[in-house]
Amino acid sequence: MLKKLALLAFACIAFSQESRAEDPLYAREREKMVITIQAYAKTDIGFSGKNGISARVLEAMGQTKRHLFIPKRFRALAYADRPVPIGHEQTISQPYIVAVMTDLAVVAKNHTVLEIGTGSGYQAAILARLARKVCTIEIVRPLGETAAKLLAELGLDNVSVRIGDGYKGWPDCGPFDAVIVTAALGHVPPPLIEQLKVGGRLVMPVGPAGASQQLTVMTKIAPGKTKTRKVGLVRFVPFTRSPN
Ligand code: SAH
Repeated sequence: MLKKLALLAFACIAFSQESRAEDPLYAREREKMVITIQAYAKTDIGFSGKNGISARVLEAMGQTKRHLFIPKRFRALAYADRPVPIGHEQTISQPYIVAVMTDLAVVAKNHTVLEIGTGSGYQAAILARLARKVCTIEIVRPLGETAAKLLAELGLDNVSVRIGDGYKGWPDCGPFDAVIVTAALGHVPPPLIEQLKVGGRLVMPVGPAGASQQLTVMTKIAPGKTKTRKVGLVRFVPFTRSPN
């Protein structure tokens, strides 16, 4: 009887480890995703103005299990180079666009970064591997809560998630070396520029919702002074505003 119990306990441990271990298919698909991203970036220099994506960003994308950020029924698409629905009419961005935006933000190890539009938490997870501290704001409560839980489970404890309208930024978390906005608006919210350090960069899709937007990199060159560079066209979900 004791032996049977011991065997059962062993089987349970083995099973729980198995369920946590990664499916080798996902690992292979992730490797291919990274190769695809770099191939696009090297042939599509006109889009980002850069010849390829930095090794640090590619490494972070190679280490982050994107399938965990995707609803189970869409997991087969986790490593395809396309956006995927995450519920509440929102999407997790295409891996190539995540890579380009992260690369344009030029995030270093000692940086503090703000993200507006947590969504699935995937972009925040990438930033967490690159920066010292990541603050991310999501307006749809269930999305923000699910993302916060997953990020904590993954041990990415340098990310703070706040539920609310990101238009006003998060002054207490800043000032920021980089800001990434993952929802489209016709203008850059002034509080986000305000909370950027001099020398810091903001990367955001600027343009109308429901059409193409111009991926924009704004660099703060002095207090109250910015320089704007327009990158390629992208299509993001709308930046929504809370009524208060
Ligand atoms: N970065 C996300 C992509 C999310 S899509 C990821 O990696 O999965 C954009 C997200 O921005 C959506 O979840 C949407 O709800 C959120 N959003 C839109 N307007 C917002 C606002 N004013 N403040 C905070 N989040 C907002």
